[in-house]
Amino acid sequence: MLLFKYPAEAPPHLSTVYLTRKLEFSASHACRAAGLSEEENRRLYGAASNPLGHGHNYVVEVTVRGEPDPVTGMVIDLKELKQILEREIVEPMDHRHLNHEVPPFDRVVPTVENLAIEIWRRVEPHLPEAARLHAIRVYETPDLFADYFGDRR
Ligand SMILES: [Zn+2]
Repeated sequence: MLLFKYPAEAPPHLSTVYLTRKLEFSASHACRAAGLSEEENRRLYGAASNPLGHGHNYVVEVTVRGEPDPVTGMVIDLKELKQILEREIVEPMDHRHLNHEVPPFDRVVPTVENLAIEIWRRVEPHLPEAARLHAIRVYETPDLFADYFGDRR
């Protein structure tokens, strides 16, 4: 019988750490599905369907995972992470009307769910190899948020 034995010292992959940075931006949106009638949009999204839009103070939590670098003790350079989030999320979205100024929300309904997916798409390609994107959490209000963990098919 073959018995699996743990090595005396934990292998490096057991020191995976999840690191989260929080950011905020304010934006307007209107929740309207292009394929639905005015009445259906109103029934589905309520006041949020008003085409003039309304604002939210969005809070985003970006979680990366990796092993702390043996020299720096960091999973990712925090300045670099902050710069990526400023450039890819805050600059293009802060004080914008998402439906009119931030693609793909001219054709994709800017719900909190779709915002989480879009933020993943914008951030993921810019992260260094050592820090993989683990989760995007977007709060639309203090009591409503969406989590996205990437396409795991
Ligand atoms: Zn809203």
